Amino acid sequence: MRQVYLDNNSTTAIDPRVADAIEPYLRRVYGNPSNLHSFGRECAEGMAEARDKVAAFIGADAEEIYFTGSGSESDNWAIKGAALARAGQGRHVVASPIEHSAALGSLKFLESSGFRVSYLPVDGYGLVDPADVARAITSETTLVTVMLANNEIGTIEPVKEIAAICRKAGVTCHTDAVAAAGKIPVDVRDLGVDLLTISGHKLHAPKGVGVLYIREGTRIDPLIHGGHQEKGMRAGTENTLGIVGMARACELLAVEWREDAERMRRLRDRLEKAILERVPELRVSGHPEKRLPNVCHVTAGYVEGEALILNLDMEGIAVASGSACSAGESGASATLVAIGIPPLFRNSPVRFSLGRETTEEDIDYTVEAFVRVTTRLRDISPIWKRR
Ligand SMILES: *Cc1c(COP(=O)(O)O)cnc(C)c1O
Repeated sequence: MRQVYLDNNSTTAIDPRVADAIEPYLRRVYGNPSNLHSFGRECAEGMAEARDKVAAFIGADAEEIYFTGSGSESDNWAIKGAALARAGQGRHVVASPIEHSAALGSLKFLESSGFRVSYLPVDGYGLVDPADVARAITSETTLVTVMLANNEIGTIEPVKEIAAICRKAGVTCHTDAVAAAGKIPVDVRDLGVDLLTISGHKLHAPKGVGVLYIREGTRIDPLIHGGHQEKGMRAGTENTLGIVGMARACELLAVEWREDAERMRRLRDRLEKAILERVPELRVSGHPEKRLPNVCHVTAGYVEGEALILNLDMEGIAVASGSACSAGESGASATLVAIGIPPLFRNSPVRFSLGRETTEEDIDYTVEAFVRVTTRLRDISPIWKRR
């Protein structure tokens, strides 16, 4: 049976060229980059090169790149670290309600520690209005966090406009760019943000490595205390394999992202058009234009969500319900509730997220299987017959 992986927003395959870059670190280059001897120095040089490559990918200086253990850690560090560092000035944070669970969990922690968090409204596409950010900021506000693109429905937020408002108000601005990186341009200077998160395993590097960009001069407390690694800001012997892999992945994307994105957009549009034409009672979520080129998120009425995902899996197709990390009201995704998807549709979301390896054959096979599965499930559904 054909196997089609359309869950690239959950994780991506390691690119063979990334694996090649890691290989020496797996076998020969095992020194501790903190050591002064030749073993350590060789590793430290590899790390320095990696920092340059990641910095180039997002338009930062190498000194502003901090390696972490995941995208989740970077989000935690950015949100808790910036709020705590400026707690003397105020204890108010502004956030979008459709952030990743790593951000939402960090915000909840701040609330339990005496901070106030204001959640912004979003429209039916999940878009934040920068004017609402300006309205939410008070003299107590020290941090705003709004993701660059939503991992579930793909909507791209107006982060540049939001960052400009923050800058004027003297408020630190963080964006989670994990889903966006490699799909749309991510340039920290152009965006004007102070803090930005990316994660290795979402861009064809290994799991367990993330980056936090910290703009020079940004006030932030460390999250992991201990050794002097990462300028004393993130203790722990560096994950050299992950870091070298992440750097190679960024280096490849810097050259290839546009071509990748165009191909994924063409295939995504082909998929979306075909299933909308052939499957009734199907709604697309996310903004029609301001959307990641690799994401097609649909909700199907009169079908049970879990049955849909499992039946597609039996056809060899891996997709997400997109709600694994964000269960909210009645198990439905917090994002889908926030954008007002009606209950009949909310409980059967399917997120197709394409990747570098996705082919036209994969898409055509997926269309046929999706039509087959939704038809089969509806044929046995009493509510479908009674609709
Ligand atoms: C996957 C993801 C994260 C978490 O990254 P990990 O490296 O898996 O911890 C954070 N934010 C977004 C938008 C993501 O898609």
